[in-house]
Amino acid sequence: MMALAQELFPICRSITGEGLRATLRAVQRRIPITLQEVPSGTQAFDWTVPDEWNITDAYVRDSAGRRVVDFKVSNLHVVNYSEPVRTRLSLAELKKRLFSLPEHPDWVPYRTSYYDRSWGFCLSQRQLETLQDREYEAVIESTLAPGSLTYGELLLTGETSDEILISCHCCHPSLANDNLSGIALATELARFLGQRRHRYSYRFLFLPGTIGSITWLSRNEQNVSRIRHGLVVACVGDPGPLHYKKSRRGDAEIDRAVVHVLKHSGKEHRVLEFSPYGYDERQYCSPGFDLPVGSLTRTPHGRYAQYHTSADDLSLLRPEALADSLETYLAVLRVLEANLRYRSTNPKGEPQLGKRGLYRSIGGLPDPERQAFAMLWVLNLSDGSNDLLSIAERSGLPFELIHDAATRLTEHRLLRRETSPLDSVR
Ligand code: ZN
Repeated sequence: MMALAQELFPICRSITGEGLRATLRAVQRRIPITLQEVPSGTQAFDWTVPDEWNITDAYVRDSAGRRVVDFKVSNLHVVNYSEPVRTRLSLAELKKRLFSLPEHPDWVPYRTSYYDRSWGFCLSQRQLETLQDREYEAVIESTLAPGSLTYGELLLTGETSDEILISCHCCHPSLANDNLSGIALATELARFLGQRRHRYSYRFLFLPGTIGSITWLSRNEQNVSRIRHGLVVACVGDPGPLHYKKSRRGDAEIDRAVVHVLKHSGKEHRVLEFSPYGYDERQYCSPGFDLPVGSLTRTPHGRYAQYHTSADDLSLLRPEALADSLETYLAVLRVLEANLRYRSTNPKGEPQLGKRGLYRSIGGLPDPERQAFAMLWVLNLSDGSNDLLSIAERSGLPFELIHDAATRLTEHRLLRRETSPLDSVR
């Protein structure tokens, strides 16, 4: 994951253009995503796919010909989606086009102007203060022209056509935690799942933020009912604690699964209620879709000082934080994959476990009492209406223990998997 983040870091991404394509092609070298191109001007609900933006160079030059602000040093120096410009102007006029962060004088802010034609430069407050009252030349060699919006999509087919959606945005230029960490985690998750059997089908989306997910939804409206659970991946590489933002529904299975995993992780974490601000969960959870999609991050957007500044660089990413995030995603998916309903074949009185060797068989386990409790809980609540996660919640026991008990009881024919798919009657 660190290697992919390092490879992608220098690329000047945006919501359209060659930087976005180059990023998706780098992902494509690791997992078999399909690149979809949606022409500029395409209507997507209330939005229109904008003209494609590409940039080769941008700078502010002083009268001595020295580049005092230079896109070649960092792509954050130009306001993303700036229209082309070549002009001479006074410092006072130039300053109206400059953005800095007085509270963090060494950092360069990240600014965009996707839907208003404009141009500008970003620089550190210290750089700004060195500019003398002279004439400057501002040059942005960009193009804004009909082209297309690109996104990457991968479907890993499972035993059922029910889908788990994993979505990440990939439109930010040289920013590491937001959003390269998300791209790296989603890529690794897809690579991992691609090598294994799974009950669910998995749909991975690598999209430019907002316009990408809205465009995808507008082109896939007929298929979204297959999405049973979803997670938006972002900001998963910083050392902060994990945060889960619930879906709009608040009590969807994905919400329960993530909360359960975090609760039993023994690690510091926070659970946040849904809010209509953040990443693409805003679109998946818009009222016309109301999909069960939450967002599992470390420190959420806007809550760390380096957010949307040049200080969100590769040094903010910790391999152990990325690994912990990935392991948490996998733990959530293990719960969803195994969260089935069972029915006791012997519901009248407790079945006699001892004569089946079930007490003896658990003798060697590290925590026999909890194993026995887990079996009693599973036997009692498996009336066909409770899934294993609700049994884990009600018993206070970790899902894995409940699942192990269900597996053992099924082997002894004391349980059978409920075939009526209650999920679809929700
Ligand atoms: Zn962002």
